[in-house]
Amino acid sequence: MNGVVLTLNAGSSSLKFAVFDSETASMTARISGKITGIGGEPFFAARDANGRALDKGLLETLDPSLDHEQLIALLFPWLEEHHGDRPLLAVGHRVVHGGQRFNEPTRISDEVLAALEAFVPLAPLHQPHNLAAIRAVSTWQPDLPQIACFDTSFHAGQRQLAKLFALPRALSNEGIIRYGFHGLSYEYIANILPDHLGELATGRVIVAHLGNGSSMCAIKNQQSVATSTGFTALDGLMMGRRCGNLDPGVVLYLMQVKGMTADAVTDLLYRQSGLLGVSGISNNMHVLQQSDDPHAREAVQLYCYRAASVLAGLIPAIGGLDALVFTAGIGENSTVVRAAICAQLEWLGIAIDPVSNDMNAVKISAAGSAVEVLVLPTNEEVVVASACRKLVA
Ligand code: ADP
Repeated sequence: MNGVVLTLNAGSSSLKFAVFDSETASMTARISGKITGIGGEPFFAARDANGRALDKGLLETLDPSLDHEQLIALLFPWLEEHHGDRPLLAVGHRVVHGGQRFNEPTRISDEVLAALEAFVPLAPLHQPHNLAAIRAVSTWQPDLPQIACFDTSFHAGQRQLAKLFALPRALSNEGIIRYGFHGLSYEYIANILPDHLGELATGRVIVAHLGNGSSMCAIKNQQSVATSTGFTALDGLMMGRRCGNLDPGVVLYLMQVKGMTADAVTDLLYRQSGLLGVSGISNNMHVLQQSDDPHAREAVQLYCYRAASVLAGLIPAIGGLDALVFTAGIGENSTVVRAAICAQLEWLGIAIDPVSNDMNAVKISAAGSAVEVLVLPTNEEVVVASACRKLVA
C-alpha cells in the first residue's frame, strides 16, 4: 500500500519531524519541520517539499509549560491535516543508544522499549526524550508500526581495538566499551560519498559532525572504523554544553574534594561545560563568533584546537587521509571554524580555498590540496525514512 512514513527526532529541547512517501527512495520530505525551544519558548515551523512555509494552525502559539509528549500529541492532528489523503504507515525514531544488543533498525515492542530504558543513564540528555516520543505515538495510535534507528549502530562493526577502554577486562565484558554516536548522520554522509568523491569514496575519510553535539568519525570503505565519542556522547570533541575529552581525575576531584554529588557532576559535564562553560556567554557558536569578549574568542579557539587534535588522533585508525567532510550546523555554516581547524592541519597537506570556504561551497579544498575537503549537509531523517520504507515494503 502506498502511504507516508513519519520520522521523529526528539532532542533535549527540540523535536524534528519529516514525512516521506513510503514507496519511493526520494530523499525529499513531503513535509518537514521542528518545534524548538521546548522547556523555554516553544516555536513551531514547517515547510513543504518546495521549501514553502506551511500554515501553523493551532501550533501558532505554544504554551511554554508543554513537555515533549504533550507537544507531540498536538503535532499529530496537525500532521494528519497536512499529509493529505495518504495513510501513515509507520513511524521511525532516532534513538541515541542501542547498547550492544541493537545493531540495526529494530521494530519496537514493549520488550524492546523496556530494554532501551536501560540505556537512559548512558545518554541522559537524549534517550529519555527519544523513548517519550515512542510512547506518545503508542498512545495516539497503538497499532501503528514503529521502528527505532540507533546512533550507535553505524559503529557496531568497528574492530575490538577501537572499542576497548584500558580498563579491567571484566568491565569491558559487561559492556563498558566505546559505542560511538551520530551514526545516522555518518551513515547518510557515507552513503552519498560516491556522488562527491567518485573512487575516493571508498578511501580514508574523516567526517566532522560539528553541531551542538560534535563528534568525528574515521571511515574506510564507507564503514565506521573509529570515532571520537565513547561509552557516552560526552567524550571526544568540545561541544555546545558538553566538555568532551576530560581527565577522569577531574571527576574524582570534583566528587572527593569538592564534595559534588553525581547529579551535580552530570549537570556540570553535560549542560554547563563546552562552549557555554568556557565562554560564560553562550553554547551557540554563531553568537560566540560575533562576540568581542575574550572568553568567547578563547572558547572558539579551544573548540577548533581540540577538533584538530581529535582529528589527528583518528588518522592512525585509517592509515592516512584522503578526504575530510564537514557537516552539521557548525560544520555546514561556520567558515571561521572550518578555516581554523584546517589551518592547524596544514602539515597533513590540507589546504582550503578561502573563497570556496566563504561561499560554503561543496568542495572547499584548494587545487593541489593533498586531502579533498568537502562541506555536505547531513540528513539523518533520510536514513530513518529508509528504514521505515523497508519495514512497510
Ligand atoms: P544540533 O546538535 O542541535 O542538531 P546543529 O547541527 O543544528 O545542532 O548545530 C547548531 C550549531 O550550529 C550552533 O552552535 C549554531 O550556532 C551553529 N551554527 C549555525 N549556523 C551557523 C553560522 N552561520 N555560523 C556559525 N555557527 C553556526
